[in-house]
Amino acid sequence: MPVKTLHYSNGEITIVWKPDVCIHSGICFQGLASVFDPRRRPWIDMSQAHTLRIVEQVKQCPSGALSIAEKKKVE
Ligand code: SF4
Repeated sequence: MPVKTLHYSNGEITIVWKPDVCIHSGICFQGLASVFDPRRRPWIDMSQAHTLRIVEQVKQCPSGALSIAEKKKVE
């Protein structure tokens, strides 16, 4: 079965989330609850934090469910 993939963008970067890979560790929403909120739809709101902070949080995902699809120059 193909892995489902969802994309969330803020115009600078796009987060890729693979729900089938997520192990629900909670690290993303414990670390950056304003952006990652599993009770909200869509659960990722890229407008709630600076791009660099979001990238930092995505890197802490232990399963690889979260990743960055594309990254333009961030000043
Ligand atoms: S940090 Fe990664 S594995 Fe953990 S809940 Fe978030 S997306 Fe899922």
